[in-house]
Amino acid sequence: MLSERAGRIKPSPTLAMDAKAKAMKAGGFDIVNFGVGEPDFDTPDNIKEAAIKAIKDGFTKYTAVGGIEALKDAVIEKFLKDNHLQYKREEIIVSCGAKHSLYNIAQALFSPGDEVLIPSPYWVSYPDQVLLNDATPVFIRTNEADSFMVKPEVLASHITGKTKALILNSPSNPTGLTYDRRTLERIAEIVLRHDLFVISDEIYEKLTYDGFAHISIASLDRAVKAKTIVVNGLSKSYAMTGWRIGFAAGPAGIIKAMTTIQSQSTSNPTSIAQKAAVEALTGPQDFIQIMRTEFDRRRKFLVAELNAVPGMRCLTPTGAFYAFPNTSALYGKSFDGTEISSSSDLALYLLEQARVALVHGGAFGDDSHIRLSYATSVEEIKKGVGRIKEAVQRLS
Ligand SMILES: *Cc1c(COP(=O)(O)O)cnc(C)c1O
Repeated sequence: MLSERAGRIKPSPTLAMDAKAKAMKAGGFDIVNFGVGEPDFDTPDNIKEAAIKAIKDGFTKYTAVGGIEALKDAVIEKFLKDNHLQYKREEIIVSCGAKHSLYNIAQALFSPGDEVLIPSPYWVSYPDQVLLNDATPVFIRTNEADSFMVKPEVLASHITGKTKALILNSPSNPTGLTYDRRTLERIAEIVLRHDLFVISDEIYEKLTYDGFAHISIASLDRAVKAKTIVVNGLSKSYAMTGWRIGFAAGPAGIIKAMTTIQSQSTSNPTSIAQKAAVEALTGPQDFIQIMRTEFDRRRKFLVAELNAVPGMRCLTPTGAFYAFPNTSALYGKSFDGTEISSSSDLALYLLEQARVALVHGGAFGDDSHIRLSYATSVEEIKKGVGRIKEAVQRLS
């Protein structure tokens, strides 16, 4: 009855885990939730006020499909200020979240038979969006020794005559790690040599630590910029996940195709949210610094605590709000005669026996790890890791 296409994909495992944790919480269980993929901060008041004003002013009708000019201009300003990237209005599209921008890109670029390179571990939606658009995801393994950055020579070895694009995500969800300039330069060289597109998801750009400055691959030079579609949005930087505003910048021909696709699917992003987005991008920015400082404090605390759990080993993330400890030393151990042999076994064990929700690494294509979000208070982190430690010590 359903289409063949519908059978190719699965529900987002991170959203599924979050729903499960929330359901247990609603059922009266005291759950520490490390599963969340959104800031626990409230959207700043100045942004909310702009939305309320938009409603009162009657700014409640259809807008231009790819976003109002004031918002496109604010996005252009943001790229110039933050990334030294210069775009025109026809090189910008505003969508219903960064995920929607990514989906439009997949629709505009991929054809049956195309191969799309995805460094693994990866954000859960990349492979499924590629599959939904009749192309084939090709995974490139990365590992802790390289801080989860794709090695240029390994990237080159995965390129075939069918390769169409590479999806990059820095700072990364789930690893929390960030690409350095030298590695980006070497990747850009290979991408240009093979005439590939780069889809660069920079949604965590504002959340970096230890003095690390985010670098957009598109900013390296004109040639790379001409082959890159940069994706970003307001969800993470301004705690606006529910508002659904994301955007993309790239070659005018691609942006135009994405806009046509958007015109036949969702039409414009919500008019009210667009007004709020203008305020977010052009109003006071101190909120970001406050949020970042708090995330940084939690990051240090969580990583130190995780490294004190026997059998866990965690790199220090330099971006986003996730810790991604290696838990493979725990596999093979048992509880009550049941063996823990994978990241999903471990996640289930910790949910049931420690009342701690987190996402198993398998969801991101890496079974040796688990992902913990620190978008929760230090008190909760302390309580949650204490429970994890205790539950892990019960394994034999
Ligand atoms: C949260 C997230 C997105 C999607 O953000 P929205 O703008 O809310 O759609 C995209 N990419 C990554 C890596 C994310 O973690």
